[in-house]
Parts: sequence; C-alpha cells; structure tokens
Amino acid sequence: MVYNTILDAVGNTPMVRLNRMPEEGSAEILVKVEALNVGGSIKTRTALNMIEQAEKEGLLSPDSIIVEPTSGNQGIGLALVGAVKGYRTIIIMPDSVSEERRKLIRHYGAEVKLIHDAGDIGKCMEECLNCAMEMKAKNPKVFVPQQFENPNNTLAHKKHTALEIMAQVAGPIHGYCSGIGTGGTLTGIGEVLKAQYPDLEIWAVEPENAAILAGGTIGTHIQMGIGDGIIPDILNREIYDDIYVVTDAEALETARRLAKEEGLVCGISSGTNVAAALKLAKKLGPGKTVVTVLPDTAERYYSTPLFGV
Ligand code: PMP
Repeated sequence: MVYNTILDAVGNTPMVRLNRMPEEGSAEILVKVEALNVGGSIKTRTALNMIEQAEKEGLLSPDSIIVEPTSGNQGIGLALVGAVKGYRTIIIMPDSVSEERRKLIRHYGAEVKLIHDAGDIGKCMEECLNCAMEMKAKNPKVFVPQQFENPNNTLAHKKHTALEIMAQVAGPIHGYCSGIGTGGTLTGIGEVLKAQYPDLEIWAVEPENAAILAGGTIGTHIQMGIGDGIIPDILNREIYDDIYVVTDAEALETARRLAKEEGLVCGISSGTNVAAALKLAKKLGPGKTVVTVLPDTAERYYSTPLFGV
C-alpha cells in the first residue's frame, strides 16, 4: 500500500506488554509506543488534527504562518505538518529544552525562536505565548493553534489514540496514567476510557518539581514535555482519581530500564508514565490491566542526562 503523504501514516502505533519490569503480584502493563509514530512522538497526532480542523474552519490560507509556543514535541509535529502542507512555521520555545528538538524543527524547515528560561518554566512558557500573541497582533496571516486551549488537541486523542487503545486491548482496562503537558492526552484518553469502563482508576502524573496539581512548588526539572508550571485550560480536572508525583531520578531510571529490560527506547516522560504505571499495577494487582503511553523516542535526548551526560 502507498500513502499519499506521510501524514496519512500518522497514528496506529503498537501496543506492547511489559514483561520484565512489573513486580511480582502486579497487574499487566500495556504501553502505547508513540516513538514509532510519524515524527517520533504522540504530538504529531495533535498537530495534524489542530491544523486540519483549522483548515476546515477556514482559519488557514496557503500564505498563513503557523506560530506556536511549545516546549518541544508539538513544535516538531507542527513543523512536520507545515512541511508537508507548505505552511511557513515558527516555533517559540524555552532555551532549556533539548538541542535535538531545535535541530529537528529546523530540519523540517521551520524557524525557531528561543526564550530564556531563568529557572521558572511556567514563567518562560508564558513569555513564549506572549511573544506568539504579539506576532499575531502584528500580522493577520499568523495562526496560533494554542495547544493549551485548543479542543482539537484533546479531540485527536478522543477520535484516535483512545479508540486505538480500546481496539488493541480488546478487553477491560482497570488503570490508566499519564503526565500532563497540555493535558490533551490525559483528558482525551481518560474521558473515552472512563465512559467505557466506569470503574477505571486514572492517575495524573507530575514531576516532583512542577507538581502544580498536587500543590507543590514550581522549579526546573528534566521531564520534558510535562510539568510546564501551569494548569492547562483543556485539562479535565474531574477525570483523574489521584495524582502521582515522580522525581527526575525515578523518571530517568525507569526510562533507562525500558530500554534495557523491554527494548523500548523512549524519552524521559515515558519513564515518568511507566514509573506511575508500575505503582498503579502493584496497587490493582494480578488479573487487572493498566495502560499508559510512551510519548516520544529517546533519540531527541542524546544531549540530556538520559544518556548519562
Ligand atoms: N511527554 C512528552 C515528551 C511531550 O512532548 C508531551 C507534550 N507536551 C507530553 C508528554 C504530554 O502530552 P500532553 O500535552 O497531551 O499533556
């Protein structure tokens, strides 16, 4: 079969059982491997849905400029979609995110504007957003998808990721957990799974130094893509039953174990999600099924402590 463009190949990522990592007496853990998505992350799904819905709503014309503030993968996804569809794309991001992300975005032909992160990621993300909105105010050709408040972010997961999960598992799901960047993944998957399985236990997962839902203080952390220091508009705060906090060390160790014990080479927030899934699986016990997502590939983390820097 031949795809018309690479965008037609987005989604339908594999679901894999963890074999060596779960402790004795745990539920089974199934992970959705978004490293194998087009563009190497779960965010290609949301980039594509936000742009295609904007096209349908007449918000984009061939000379539109896509401008988005993002801490990373959304920028890579938008740069990819912009490349295929021919839109000029400008990504505004904190200078604390990995160099590989900037290089990849430029490789797709998009432009990168860096904003200095002086140690408060929430403040820096706000500055990135202000910069995008100023560009929009000055130039009517600018379209800002605004993933933190765009319902088409969440809908990408309701229409695709969640339905893929239910079809792949083909049986009851008892636990789901994942971290929060925009909250699109947790809200979209969480709402669909909970409607199908009302007894499902959902955990929102946060980095220790940005545990805003758990009432913690905001500092810097290395769990890139989650814990941006804000409570996003599109996060459904009714959808999770509990909050689980993960340290940088635990996220790193778990991401490394995923490679060494399961052959799954993925990013730091995948370690975060699986650290929580291991605890949730232990709590729920044998005979139950816990699902999480591995949001991106490890190959954009060579310059980070994941690879022992
Ligand atoms: N992990 C990584 C690596 C990400 O890039 C993102 C997206 N920001 C997330 C997790 C969280 O996804 P969401 O924005 O849907 O909450």
